[in-house]
Order: sequence, then C-alpha cells, then structure tokens
Amino acid sequence: EVVLEMKKISKSFGKVTALKNGELVVHKGEIHALLGANGAGKSTLMKILSGVYRQDQGEILINHEKATFQHPSDAKEKGIFCVYQEVDTAIVPQLTVAENIMLDRFSQEKGWYFSRKDLHRQAQEALTLLEVNDIELNQAASNLSLAKKQLVLIARALVQTTKVIIFDEPTAPLSHIEAEKLFHVIRQLRVKGIGCIFITHRLPEVFAIADVVTVMRDGCRISTVPIAQITQEMVIEQMLGEVWHEERN
Ligand code: ADP
Ligand code: MG
Ligand code: MG
Repeated sequence: EVVLEMKKISKSFGKVTALKNGELVVHKGEIHALLGANGAGKSTLMKILSGVYRQDQGEILINHEKATFQHPSDAKEKGIFCVYQEVDTAIVPQLTVAENIMLDRFSQEKGWYFSRKDLHRQAQEALTLLEVNDIELNQAASNLSLAKKQLVLIARALVQTTKVIIFDEPTAPLSHIEAEKLFHVIRQLRVKGIGCIFITHRLPEVFAIADVVTVMRDGCRISTVPIAQITQEMVIEQMLGEVWHEERN
C-alpha cells in the first residue's frame, strides 16, 4: 500500500540544480533508506516533503491525493513528521516529557482540555507502544539526553496521525547503544504501519534496518530496490557513479 509518492520533483537554487526529476515512493510501514553522496539532493528532497521548501516542478501524493504545502505545519497535518538531528529546536525544555509528547495535540485540538491524567495516559501509551520504558514522564525534558529527546519526538509523532517519519542522519550524534535503541523503536513504527525515510551515510546501518533503498546522485534517483537485492558495494558504485570507476582504474 503506497502512502507517499514524490514524482518528478525539481528544485534549483539560483544556478545550482539540487533536484532533477527526483522520485520517491514509500509504502505503509516501510523503512526506506535514502542514500547519496554529499550534495546528492537528499536534504532538499526531504525539505520539500516537509514543507520547508517548495518544489519548482513535480508533485507530492499522499494516499494518492495531491498535496501542496505552504508551510511545514501543512506537511505535518498531512501526516509527514520530521525528526531532525537538532532535536533541541523541537523540544521545549521548560515542559515535562509528557507535555512534550502531547505538544502538537494541544495546538491541533484548539480549546480541547486535557486533564493531567489523560495527558499522561496518552503519552505513556505512546512510549509503551515504542517499547521505551526508561523515560520518566514528569521530568523536565531539558534533563534528557539527546538520544532520549529523539525518542520523545518519535512518541510525539505517534500520538498524531503520522503516516511517514523522516529521519535525517539520526544516529550521527548517538552512541552505538543509543543507535541500537533507536533502531528498536523504528522497528516498532514499522509494526504500527508508519513509513520511515531514513537518511544516513552509514551503510551497515542501512543493511541492518532498511526494507528498501533509494540511491540518489546529482539530484536524480539512480535506483530503488529491496535491501535483499543490493549489496554495499553496489550502493557505493551507484552513489559515486563515474568517480568510482575512475578510482578503480
Ligand atoms: P545532500 O543532503 O544529499 O547532501 P543537499 O540537498 O543538501 O544534498 O544539496 C543538494 C545541492 O543543492 C548541493 O549542491 C547544495 O549545495 C545545494 N543546496 C542545497 N540547499 C541549498 C540552498 N538553500 N541554497 C543554495 N544551494 C543549496
Ligand atoms: Mg549534505
Ligand atoms: Mg543532507
């Protein structure tokens, strides 16, 4: 079941073409790795998907319906949620963990009153679904490690009608143990039917967690294949293209 389609997306910044007919298809509950060398256009594609940039050409379909985003909040309303590496821009340090998890729900359900009990129950439900059991709901979010703040943001996505979560190099600031924990949580998202777009430069991670891999180069999609049908060497060859062959000869 396809939940997200990006079709022939092009985007230029002045004379720099960041994307040329960029393509991406994400199915329900799929962990989709997006790979490419630096400058391949991954972040630009994701910023278009999350309503930060507007594409010059091409369209985005969510559940087969055309979607246009004027603002990041439009993308969120359509079910596209981003977990940025800079988690501190999204976590409100003065609020508790429970309040941070429920933060967007306050603004979505204008005038809706959550009792403290309801708020805690729903926040706890999200953490339990993610199999996270070592984050205390009453503490100030500012006390959490960066890794736990990421988990709070994922829980925040879960209490909304999120269809796809984008992770842009989420493990870069994490220890190995924290990264393993994040992968465990992402696998729970797969079980819940939430699609994940996972950008990383760490190929072993991709082969540990992804279902499907899309490789980009110079703003174009080179390929999209199930993880079982591709090797690390093939990915590197597709990422580097000519450069790879020249280096070998
Ligand atoms: P990646 O995330 O794969 O490293 P980016 O999407 O960040 O690639 O960048 C793709 C290309 O677009 C690069 O050449 C980059 O310099 C350019 N680019 C990205 N964002 C901007 C911007 N805001 N202004 C000008 N050029 C940009
Ligand atoms: Mg980059
Ligand atoms: Mg990038």
